[in-house]
Amino acid sequence: MAELRSFFSHHEDLTQVILYAGIITSLWFAEVIASSEGTLTKWKHSTVNASFIFTALPIQLLLTTFVILISKWTIAHHWGLINFIPYHNNPWVYYTSLFVLLDLCEYIYHVTMHKVEALWRFHLVHHSDLNVDVSTTTREHPLETGIRTCFLMLWVFICGPAIGVLILRQTFQSFSNIVAHTQFRLPEKVNRIVGLVFITPNLHHVHHHYQLPYTDCNYGDVLSIWDRLFGTFGKLSKEETVFGIDTHMDEKLNGSFVGAVKMPFQKFERKPQQLD
Ligand SMILES: [Zn+2]
Ligand SMILES: [Zn+2]
Repeated sequence: MAELRSFFSHHEDLTQVILYAGIITSLWFAEVIASSEGTLTKWKHSTVNASFIFTALPIQLLLTTFVILISKWTIAHHWGLINFIPYHNNPWVYYTSLFVLLDLCEYIYHVTMHKVEALWRFHLVHHSDLNVDVSTTTREHPLETGIRTCFLMLWVFICGPAIGVLILRQTFQSFSNIVAHTQFRLPEKVNRIVGLVFITPNLHHVHHHYQLPYTDCNYGDVLSIWDRLFGTFGKLSKEETVFGIDTHMDEKLNGSFVGAVKMPFQKFERKPQQLD
């Protein structure tokens, strides 16, 4: 047992991958059991989304090396916003402040991906899924994986977290992102309470609605407080939610890995905001 513990503590990357795969697989099977959709249809849809894991893994693993180097540098030089937080030597203050600060950074990242036309082209691949389920979590254009990890380097440089914080945050983030994409929505009463602080599936589903202004709300990563604070919080019932993105509703194109990878390089016009 001690050997096993020592193995996992020395192979954090592998532990994260195993944890990620384990949660996604269990929820995928739960969705198959609960869903009226045929297993074959779901399998075909999921394999397209799962293909993105193979492009994301090498990019993520390579760039994470730089994230770790930056983190080590900030610690050695007492650099970063964390050093301005009172009582930051207390582990509770240290971990909580950095978790919240990094979550704000992820919020800013997500808004940037939506608002900057050149970046939106890559992020829309995630939004182009017409049937959001747990497999949508992995649907990320390889270039977005690169852009996201480069932004993470910037956030680490600004905030100055130790590697332990990054590991803790990655664990919470993976869990939260997977749960946010599942077909299992919370009962409305529970959602109203949990959604005060956290991004729930109900809230993230609104973000996956095919039309503006809903696509541009609920940007939060783990916490929903930033959307409430900056006026980007949105609500939409399950019945009114239609998954996808209005400029890319072609089922054939969205259902192909190659088609999705080519999307950012094709011409399209973003539809004006729907006022309803
Ligand atoms: Zn988005
Ligand atoms: Zn999503």
